[in-house]
Amino acid sequence: GVCVWGDNDPLRPRAAPPELQEKTLVLVKPDAVQRRLVGHVIQRFERRGFKLVAMKLLQVALPTQLPPPPLRVPCSRCHAECWEGGAKGGHPLGVPTVTLRCHQADRGLLDKHYQQLQQKPFYPALLAYMTSGPLVAMVWEGYNVVRSTRAMVGDTNSATAAAGTIRGDFSMHVSRNVVHASDSVETAQREIGFWFQRDELVAWESGDRDYTYG
Ligand code: ADP
Repeated sequence: GVCVWGDNDPLRPRAAPPELQEKTLVLVKPDAVQRRLVGHVIQRFERRGFKLVAMKLLQVALPTQLPPPPLRVPCSRCHAECWEGGAKGGHPLGVPTVTLRCHQADRGLLDKHYQQLQQKPFYPALLAYMTSGPLVAMVWEGYNVVRSTRAMVGDTNSATAAAGTIRGDFSMHVSRNVVHASDSVETAQREIGFWFQRDELVAWESGDRDYTYG
């Protein structure tokens, strides 16, 4: 049945005010997965009080590593042929057409994600690094999460990353610097869209909000 909350019901879930809903993208890069640092990174964000709203492990592939595309892509939800644009006029059983976005993670995703860096001399090495093994993509939410996360991650260059930051504590070299974090609220919105589908983000109410934010 549908649950209807009374306006003054103390158990009614409260929508967080918008300033608490700022989101940022964090990637735990392949070096960190190989070095079993995923939990250490997650722990820092949990301990700080940020809220995890999306997470997945994925391998980004170069085109040569990808299997040839299937001729027809069945709908991932109903396994019927109601794919992209409803070419067949929707699902034969009347289930609403699911619009599939291609989410096979390939080099194109990294080209979008690192659009500003494509002309840099280290870009080919960066692509090789980011496709060398699985990475963990996460979305964290909270007050000023973009700025706080950049502070927690530290300098791009490990040598100047402050002790106590993720890179300052776990990374030895700029080319193996453990994590990615969005650098502005606008960038975060774009990057989250590159890495996640809308329904992969989970809205939930954390019980400690009044103790975390006052
Ligand atoms: P950040 O990740 O701190 O936002 P940038 O956007 O400048 O830094 O660079 C993106 C990523 O490219 C870095 O995190 C790092 O993995 C890689 N990178 C940057 N500069 C170099 C470099 N000089 N040599 C190798 N890799 C680099």
